[in-house]
Amino acid sequence: MQQLSRKSRKIEVGSLRLGGDESVVVQSMCATRTADVDRTVAQIHQLARAGAGIVRVAVDNDKEVAALREIRAQTRGVALAVDLQENYPLAERIAPHVDKFRYNPGHLHHREKSKSVADKVRWLVEIAREHGLAIRIGVNCGSVAPEFVARYPGDQLGAMVESALYHCSLMDDLGFARFVVSLKDSDPAKVIEANRRFAAKRPDVPLHLGVTEAGLPPGGVIKTRIAFEKLLAAGIGDTIRVSLTVPNERKHEEVEAGHRIIADVAAGRFVSVPDFGSGLNIISCPSCSRVENERFVELAEQVRELTAYAARHRITIAVMGCRVNGPGETDDADLGLWCGPTTVNLKRGEQKLGYFPYDEVLDRLKIELDRLITERSAVQ
Ligand code: SF4
Repeated sequence: MQQLSRKSRKIEVGSLRLGGDESVVVQSMCATRTADVDRTVAQIHQLARAGAGIVRVAVDNDKEVAALREIRAQTRGVALAVDLQENYPLAERIAPHVDKFRYNPGHLHHREKSKSVADKVRWLVEIAREHGLAIRIGVNCGSVAPEFVARYPGDQLGAMVESALYHCSLMDDLGFARFVVSLKDSDPAKVIEANRRFAAKRPDVPLHLGVTEAGLPPGGVIKTRIAFEKLLAAGIGDTIRVSLTVPNERKHEEVEAGHRIIADVAAGRFVSVPDFGSGLNIISCPSCSRVENERFVELAEQVRELTAYAARHRITIAVMGCRVNGPGETDDADLGLWCGPTTVNLKRGEQKLGYFPYDEVLDRLKIELDRLITERSAVQ
């Protein structure tokens, strides 16, 4: 495959190298419950067989830390990464069993409130150094650190990029170079812009590309392709993840889609893509171990079918799998749903409308969608 010209430095993630003139690494994330060792190990092998260079798992509690030790023992040879969301203090205990961890700068303030962000990052870097790990600074548009949101009012992208740059400067001050950055959103246009801005300022830092909650295939692949084509062709991006809402046994499709996009870009094959700025836009997350009810994927499919009649209306509906990220990640949608163990939460913009049993939420969604269409038609 033709190498894309990239300027980032090389770093090691376990025995894998990424950045610089290395091939773009495709990665993915398990959607099984991490505590279910057998299913998680099987999914890691499924993803690795499909060509994933790095596989990520979510770890949120003690039971999952214990499971991780066993998972690692059964998946030697695959670079493992752990996603630390709000529970970053778990880093110390997961470190012996992984090659890389991701922290979200927007979630560091939730714990140990008296400790500064710089001190928390220093602690994370010490752990990474001690265990020979790489770090991902993973910034998400839906959870930018409050101090950056306050500093850049009305400029989400500015807040994201500056937050990432600040964390890079913390790494620089600590003399730690083994890190990558990601700037993700569900809108491909924002992903393109944020990564371009960041890469212009820090071309030396390897970038992990992703469009969050891209949704069901084939639309989810197209959305992701829109962003990746533009960035990879410009030499931006060292590792990628395609996030799709698919059942567990089809998770390998994320990896296959990633490899197809890289190969097409390298060969100069670009597709013409629809304009997501017009018409109905349904986003849904790729699911992970945080999903508490497996009806989530079916729900996302039902939402797409139910709302097909509104295809020409410029409305965004977000369907998220869990209560951890669902409330924040749906903020920018016109209508948002996120799944709990027995009910689905529904909101319109930032206004919560309540929670509904799985077999009742679609009726209420339709009422809200019709109301929105009527209101918008009236002002046109
Ligand atoms: S929204 Fe929740 S379930 Fe979906 S990928 Fe994100 S953390 Fe996992």
